[in-house]
Amino acid sequence: MMLLDTFPPTREAALSRLSAVRPSDYARSRNAIEGAVTGLSPYITHGLLSLPEVLAGVSSRHSLDVQHKFVFELGWREYFRHVWAFRGEEIFESLREGMLPEACYANTVPADIRQAATGVPVIDMAVRTLYATGYLHNHARMWLASYVMHVRKVHWRVAADWLYGHLLDGDLASNHLSWQWVAGTGSSKPYLFNADNVARYAPAAWLSPGSVIDQSYEALDRLARQPVRGGRAQHEVPSVSPDLVEPPLFTGPPSDLAWALPDPAAVADREVWLVHPWNLGELPASLHPDTVVVGIFLSDFHRRWPWSERRWRFVASRMAELATLRWHGDSSSFGMR
Ligand SMILES: Cc1cc2nc3c(=O)[nH]c(=O)nc-3n(C[C@H](O)[C@H](O)[C@H](O)COP(=O)(O)OP(=O)(O)OC[C@H]3O[C@@H](n4cnc5c(N)ncnc54)[C@H](O)[C@@H]3O)c2cc1C
Repeated sequence: MMLLDTFPPTREAALSRLSAVRPSDYARSRNAIEGAVTGLSPYITHGLLSLPEVLAGVSSRHSLDVQHKFVFELGWREYFRHVWAFRGEEIFESLREGMLPEACYANTVPADIRQAATGVPVIDMAVRTLYATGYLHNHARMWLASYVMHVRKVHWRVAADWLYGHLLDGDLASNHLSWQWVAGTGSSKPYLFNADNVARYAPAAWLSPGSVIDQSYEALDRLARQPVRGGRAQHEVPSVSPDLVEPPLFTGPPSDLAWALPDPAAVADREVWLVHPWNLGELPASLHPDTVVVGIFLSDFHRRWPWSERRWRFVASRMAELATLRWHGDSSSFGMR
């Protein structure tokens, strides 16, 4: 089992994970929570590794044809990015009708879900793992999303925003379009799961016999199609006071990181190379030694999409390795519109 709680924000760590990929183990076990998944996503999302580099790195060590499961999964990421490029802001609204009218779904994520206190072990374990590591296995993301939408009747959009904020690998295309896939608003049918499916793929602490998801697929389908007031539990939620506090999300870097406002005078008459949170790979070898490398965060983006402290530190630490100046400000302050 890989160590999920450690994603050092360095190229070395990214390359070391890349060299550890075993495509045949991956294909055999990727659906299992403790299977041989790669943990590459924070590095891919933030550009420490590009998809072509991942593919070349794995192909150089293993024979990998285009039909391989691993290539297929990289393809999903690329596909979601293409959909975002073509549909733009439309991906933040339902692409087609879901199981129920939009008004049947709540516009907030209930506190018991956010505090890992639903009483359904698979859901509470997923939320705990998310907060503790900033990472969640794909199957756990699917279970969590399915429960939140189809059992609790929470609108996919608010739930997708919540998950995005806590992930180290949060990617608007992969995240919001995956939620739509589970909702059935971006695919031909919604994704439902039951306790038997969890028992097949998850370790003991996640198993949820006797809970609301311990039903047949037919019964779960009926439950998902039953309009109730959004967010209301369709099962008993324990009244114990939760011991877990949701980590806060921040619209800007923690103050101790001392990011400055843009100062054009500091780079006057100099060649400038900009580094942003999604291109944290190697600097180009062709960069002239006098070039000033400036790391930037766009504050207007983060007012809309806040991040966990863990993610701010991950990105800021790598940026500090690459950039001598680090600025944050609205896109207009960088001359962007
Ligand atoms: C509700 C939900 C939300 C998601 N949100 C995100 C997100 O914000 N950012 C994100 O990168 N992925 C997201 N995914 C996709 C997937 O869960 C993660 O990419 C994967 O779990 C990352 O872990 P890994 O690197 O160990 O994946 P591995 O299984 O080892 O896969 C290697 C790489 O392939 C790509 N990949 C694998 N599976 C998928 C997939 N189903 N969709 C898209 N790309 C995939 C990723 O780049 C991943 O790093 C989401 C999936 C769901 C169901």
